[in-house]
Amino acid sequence: MYKIIFATGNQGKMREVRAILQDVEAEILSMKEAGVLLDIEENGTTFVENAIIKAKAVAQALAQKPEFASDCVVLADDSGLEIDCLGGEPGIYSARYLGEETPFDVKSRDFLKRLEGVADEKRKARFVCAIAAVWPDGETVTALGTIEGRIGYELIGDNGFGYDSIFYLPEYGRTAAELSDEEKNAISHRSRALAQMKPELMKRMFR
Ligand code: IMP
Repeated sequence: MYKIIFATGNQGKMREVRAILQDVEAEILSMKEAGVLLDIEENGTTFVENAIIKAKAVAQALAQKPEFASDCVVLADDSGLEIDCLGGEPGIYSARYLGEETPFDVKSRDFLKRLEGVADEKRKARFVCAIAAVWPDGETVTALGTIEGRIGYELIGDNGFGYDSIFYLPEYGRTAAELSDEEKNAISHRSRALAQMKPELMKRMFR
């Protein structure tokens, strides 16, 4: 059976990927399940570059294993928050902002403070997700998904992670941390990028 290896150790991302690709006839494995344990340095300058770096590193590690020589593809993602009035910060540094170990409520409050006095219409922000697919022959395809919103005025909701509780979705009248998993998966930047990637995967699986 065709194998799709997703270069992440994050179980939440694996759940989302499995849900979105459930009708694709393939075995979906995390990199750990494929026997790859790597700490990959994300030294790209864009979400797309970082996604490619991660996918290529895992594809290279898998090249040593005969069972991954063909009929497989490695996927990796890179995502983050872009706040327009801060020139796109934190962007690719979303996870590293104020230090990797700093809790997200502290990072989020810091952005609320930096946006004090900024009017509603200038608080535009988006979550961005780039996904890269790398095949054993080196062929590489990328996809980008976004979801537009605004930075709120306080932390609201506890169903999310990262910056969800300050990311307000005007058309839902709620923050991303107030959405159910199903609601968030239906509209998230990651699901949009994955949905865009899906036909590319299918095309190459049946070639
Ligand atoms: P990645 O795992 O390297 O892609 O890092 C993504 C970082 O961006 C996370 O640590 C969060 O800070 C932020 N982020 C990405 N997607 C979301 C989301 O859906 N909600 C909240 N924060 C997110």
